[in-house]
Amino acid sequence: MRLGAHISVAGGLHKAFERGREVGCETMLIFTKSNRQWRAKPLSEKDIQLFQKTAESNADIYPVAVHASYLINVGSPDPAIWEKSYDALKIEVERAGALGLPLLTFHPGSYTNSDEQTGLDSIVRALKRLLAETAETAPHTTICLETMAGQGTNLGARFEHLAYLLEKAGPSPRLGICFDTCHVFAAGYDIRTPEAYEATLAEFDRIIGLEQIKCFHFNDSKFGLGEQKDRHEHIGRGHIGLTGFANFVNDPRWANFPAHLETPKTEKDEAGNEIEMDPVNLATLRSLIR
Ligand SMILES: [Zn+2]
Repeated sequence: MRLGAHISVAGGLHKAFERGREVGCETMLIFTKSNRQWRAKPLSEKDIQLFQKTAESNADIYPVAVHASYLINVGSPDPAIWEKSYDALKIEVERAGALGLPLLTFHPGSYTNSDEQTGLDSIVRALKRLLAETAETAPHTTICLETMAGQGTNLGARFEHLAYLLEKAGPSPRLGICFDTCHVFAAGYDIRTPEAYEATLAEFDRIIGLEQIKCFHFNDSKFGLGEQKDRHEHIGRGHIGLTGFANFVNDPRWANFPAHLETPKTEKDEAGNEIEMDPVNLATLRSLIR
């Protein structure tokens, strides 16, 4: 697999490459705008050129994937929130397209005070419009629905939800799945042993199709199987454990697939010194490769 992490773009999008290289990324996940804000200054021609030039001189770090803002909820029954979310998601896809980035992951959404089916259909409506309206601005960007933990009214924790969304909004080669290990495990699908891993992938294949997986988020889980809590832990220190991750990194089906850490960035040692944790987690993952 190609292993990497979620890397900060503070100081400019192109700065991510230098940071990513420092921590040992073969691939990266970035925000192209602030994840806590709806709006963003449009990308200038200069921003795009600088990013693309830096990407060219760091061509061994690929692919660069985008994570959309956490504010977006196209599962919302509130028309104002839905519109705002749709516009924000479209901007995210257009920015990824302008930068030439092949993958954009977003959280499918929450149904809040409506119900599961209404929420799913709101997401379908957004995806259909999104595919049509970004067909020219981001033709080579695949929009990935992230597997979710199932907290609150979050949709996308059941494989059936994701299958429904992909089928009703598409099928389209521009849609896919981002498989988050912590979320899938929290949603109740075991991946800890080779047998459990194979059974979960077989179920994924039966319901969604393994060919829909485009990328991974590698996070261990602070909580147990099926607890539906989305709390990421360092690799090997949570309830998934090292054997769980060994299952993924040694699976030839994922040989060239990108996987990104979204684990805590730092930790204090006994002396109170801050340790950078991305290099530690990447080294742990690499040590599992047989
Ligand atoms: Zn994730």
